[in-house]
Amino acid sequence: MRIGAIEAGGTKFVCGIGNEEGVIEARASFPTEQPEATLKQVIAFFRDQGVEAVGIGSFGPIDMNPSSLSYGYVTTTPKAGWAEYDFLGMVKRSLAVPCGWDTDVNAAALGEATWGAARGLDSCAYYTIGTGIGVGVYAEGKLVHGLVHPEGGHVLTRRHPEDDFAGNCPYHGDCLEGMAAGPALEARWKTRGSELVPEHRAWVFEAFYIAQALTGTILTLSPKRIILGGGVMQQTQLFPLIRDAVRKNLGGYVSAAAIQDHIEEYIVPPDLGGNAGLCGALALGLTALNRGA
Ligand code: ADP
Ligand code: ZN
Repeated sequence: MRIGAIEAGGTKFVCGIGNEEGVIEARASFPTEQPEATLKQVIAFFRDQGVEAVGIGSFGPIDMNPSSLSYGYVTTTPKAGWAEYDFLGMVKRSLAVPCGWDTDVNAAALGEATWGAARGLDSCAYYTIGTGIGVGVYAEGKLVHGLVHPEGGHVLTRRHPEDDFAGNCPYHGDCLEGMAAGPALEARWKTRGSELVPEHRAWVFEAFYIAQALTGTILTLSPKRIILGGGVMQQTQLFPLIRDAVRKNLGGYVSAAAIQDHIEEYIVPPDLGGNAGLCGALALGLTALNRGA
């Protein structure tokens, strides 16, 4: 079986062809330009390759409501040419196969639940901490969409008492993304995150903000595992700092062994590494094929 996968990001599109085991057999990457220019390359990559379905995990915001006129569109993005663009429709018309469609982070959550760190569990939350912050939610065996789709990168945060950075989210200033995404780190410390030594207090601040979001997610959704991916999480010293801060925030209130005794197995990096999004898109394609959509 050959299934197409598209991980559509704000800077690049990663495309792959894989099978029902989650094995990616071919891949290519194209810069995110105007939609027609990028999708021309994407479609050419899949054309005549015998793919039976395609899954798309897209940057957003996107329209996920099947009864909406703009279902399958990228909606209000500032990205040139992509606002109100019928992304799903374009791929469907061009390739004429069933297509799965979801956010990039929901795709990553599904990928990890199917083949990765949350394999065998019926719920997880997947955070990416990169150029932006996003969260994908898988609950009771399904991806969560709700009214629009989760936007947990923009939750409000309580400020660290020693932090005077104003925050750089254009909508909210000091929301989680405005305080803790890669560009916020860079703006606050005047150097790239990857240049900051592991002992730098930047990481204490970073863990402080991420842990707040995770605390809210644990209390609201009670996911069975939380997976933290994205470029910033390559700073692996963050994991123990975040786990400690989460436990401190919870104050022993949530009585689950996963948190109280085994938190190192509860808040984890992706098992699929950088392939979480692409494998997730593959899983979306498989779901679409089974549904015949
Ligand atoms: P994107 O979010 O654009 O898909 P990434 O997940 O790779 O891509 O995130 C890119 C962001 O992560 C940039 O802001 C970059 O500065 C930051 N970043 C990448 N590698 C590291 C690192 N090793 N340490 C800290 N920050 C990093
Ligand atoms: Zn925000």
